Amino acid sequence: MTSPLYGQMMDIPLLASSLLSHAARHFGDTEIVSRRIEGDIHRYTYRDCEKRAKQLAQALIALGVEQGDRVGTLAWNGYRHLECYYGIPGMGAVCHTINPRLFPDQIAFIIDHARDSYVFFDMTFAPLVEIVAPQCPNVKGWIALGDASCITEHLGNLSVPVQSYETLIAAHDGHFEWPVFDERQASILCYTSGTTGNPKGALYSHRSTVLHAYAAALPDSTCASSSDSILPVVPMFHVNAWGMPHVAPLTGAKLVMPGKDLDGQSLYELMEAEGVTFTCGVPTVWLGLLAYLKQTGKRFTTLKRTVIGGSACPPSILHTLEEEYGVDVIHGWGMTEMSPLGTLARLNFKQKQRPRDEQLRALEKQGHVMFGVDMKVVGDDGRELPWDGKSFGDLYVRGPCVIDRYFRRDESPLIDGWFPTGDAATIDADGFMHITDRSKDVIKSGGEWISSIDLENIAVSHPQVAEAACIACSHPKWTERPLIVAVLKPDATVTREELLAHFEGKVAKWWIPDDVIFADELPHTATGKLQKVRLREIYREYVLPGAVEDRV
Ligand code: ADP
Repeated sequence: MTSPLYGQMMDIPLLASSLLSHAARHFGDTEIVSRRIEGDIHRYTYRDCEKRAKQLAQALIALGVEQGDRVGTLAWNGYRHLECYYGIPGMGAVCHTINPRLFPDQIAFIIDHARDSYVFFDMTFAPLVEIVAPQCPNVKGWIALGDASCITEHLGNLSVPVQSYETLIAAHDGHFEWPVFDERQASILCYTSGTTGNPKGALYSHRSTVLHAYAAALPDSTCASSSDSILPVVPMFHVNAWGMPHVAPLTGAKLVMPGKDLDGQSLYELMEAEGVTFTCGVPTVWLGLLAYLKQTGKRFTTLKRTVIGGSACPPSILHTLEEEYGVDVIHGWGMTEMSPLGTLARLNFKQKQRPRDEQLRALEKQGHVMFGVDMKVVGDDGRELPWDGKSFGDLYVRGPCVIDRYFRRDESPLIDGWFPTGDAATIDADGFMHITDRSKDVIKSGGEWISSIDLENIAVSHPQVAEAACIACSHPKWTERPLIVAVLKPDATVTREELLAHFEGKVAKWWIPDDVIFADELPHTATGKLQKVRLREIYREYVLPGAVEDRV
């Protein structure tokens, strides 16, 4: 056997700090604009950001934080949070972003499970800190992201002792070299929202963080560039704002941080004022923005494209943005365990030659994998299903930005080296994946699968429906049949019969729901997703019309 011939290239590890250093050196005067908790607009540059991130790194070292220690953040999208994103992993510790929308008990569980040594928090979360701090004995200090006067003004009644972030970093000069270490060391820790059981931690490495940023920036992913002004609506406490705080410095794009005001008007005004060309957020954000545009007759003057994901993007949102507002919608899918981006719907050369309605149908799907992600759908017998756009099965993924196991848990979630996503999907001949359901939400009717997401999309395409959930209801003959629970818009007059008629011609007859229930609201998880487990509990005893007669 001959010995391997190695490449003769510089062995420079892929470290998160290199993303910010690159931006500071090569796009030094590009702006980062933040709407602050204090209410005003703050602006500075990548050069300023790196200096302050280095001051933070020095401050952490002075506090005794060591490589591998976890440091928590409870914060909105803003420049100080960005400094934590780089200052903490940059010095070798792990930035643990905590989702403040979880229940306080879950937050305490997460902080304790992660063994966070310090927690940085935005002042809006002070009441939360008050509740969780007594349950987190391992936290050595709580640091408020503000200056000393803000603390005196706003946090006077807090029983937990807090330090000011500005005071903490002001003691250091920012003359600091980012340390170089193994790229496989941990960079960021994110917990899943715990829809099933206690939240589980996905521990990213510097290598996976940088590789994910490269892949997420590609033309068929977000197509980010230095000519962009990027506004991530998706919070930095939810899977790294889908990688945007890394993609923006990698490409040199201007970054616009919306803070806590995520309503249609606030977002629109910020987007227009800062020339935003690209944004990303969950469908509910778009419901708010589109309602605002409709109400005021305003239009975007700079926005070109948006990634919509986190839950299925209703085709009605996609069509309105594409056809009425000329904004390219990139439907994306991913999960915390995948860093998070997995697939994005961008038309390839062949698809671009097809009629527009076919293109729109492709864009409604969750799309094509980006480089670094492989996927397959598997049937009940464990065998891979064909890529025919019809065969549904459990979706599995693998890649260097997909977790191998959960933080501080022994058992591996992998099956033959693949991560089971818990989603059910089809893949078509173009390699476009379409999520039909969470595996546990699929409706199994007479041995066939019905997609609850497809039926929800049809329900919300009715002009009088505000939100809809489709769940399986037990049926004596078919085992399960679909039931729609719908929330109507104010002043709506649509009847059950009219809504059911709206499904005709849009799906196979046997997919048409058996019944519709009108509700005042639907239960949601902390990340705004429909809580179907809860809905199934509520309607467990519900008897569908016809179910009694069908009983034999
Ligand atoms: P959590 O809600 O648990 O915090 P994630 O954000 O990781 O976690 O959620 C991932 C899940 O969200 C996916 O497994 C999938 O079920 C759902 N999801 C994400 N994007 C989409 C999409 N575009 N269409 C349908 N479902 C999606």
